[in-house]
Amino acid sequence: MVLRILLAITALFSSISPAQAGPPWRGARVTIPLEAARTSLALPQISGPAGRPLVVLDPGHGGHDPGAISPYGGVEEKQLTLAVARQIRADLMASGRVRVALTRDADIFLALRERTAIARNLKAALFISIHADSASGQATGASIYTLSDIASDREAQALATRENKADILNGVNLSGKEPAVTSILVDLAQRETMAASVAFARLLRREGAGRIPFHAGGLRMAGLAVLKSPDMPAVLLELGYLSSETDSRRIRSRTGQAEIAASVRRAVEIFVARKDTPN
Ligand SMILES: [Zn+2]
Repeated sequence: MVLRILLAITALFSSISPAQAGPPWRGARVTIPLEAARTSLALPQISGPAGRPLVVLDPGHGGHDPGAISPYGGVEEKQLTLAVARQIRADLMASGRVRVALTRDADIFLALRERTAIARNLKAALFISIHADSASGQATGASIYTLSDIASDREAQALATRENKADILNGVNLSGKEPAVTSILVDLAQRETMAASVAFARLLRREGAGRIPFHAGGLRMAGLAVLKSPDMPAVLLELGYLSSETDSRRIRSRTGQAEIAASVRRAVEIFVARKDTPN
């Protein structure tokens, strides 16, 4: 009897690993399960080898929303964003290091919220929204946008109020917690995500050098709704200005699209390789 109890105690202690004995927050990642999957939302097909990180490409506009229209040949932004997204997917498939999905692979309309919802439901490691700009002036060149207001109190607070009451953050059930605590935890997750977003934007700017002509410095920030996911690194790539004849021609051309896709492929490969290697 005593022996049996001793054995039970030994078994109990040996089941506690050193990692579990440490502070519970050590090495912890802040993750925020947000909305439950929307059953009405059709999820796109995923291409690529199982187990690899997922990159979701988001061709802007579509359906009744053409986006910007080039005065040079009348090509529509929605057509170019889809063509470029497909070219990027082909290059990423050739790379074999990631899985890829497109939020839309046809001429259909998706609300901004649906685009991020699709990527989040698929647990994307990276979200790249693709657009083309238009301006009244002489502007040319591509821009890579990340979200401004990295951790604005308003965003964090709104998110906390809307989504987190009954959700679990980092293993801690937030139900009944003070709103301020909820807000801080969301804010932490947002900062981590924003840092990753900016890191990818810089990589894309670097790998695009010599391949893609950039507007001014190339890296810009704005409060774009499609980038507002606290748990998913996201950038928005403006391919250039359709109001510019040079840009319109470049973005439509096979060479121009190949250069964009090659740049994204290289940036993605480095981004996922860094994530695979801790620190
Ligand atoms: Zn657009």
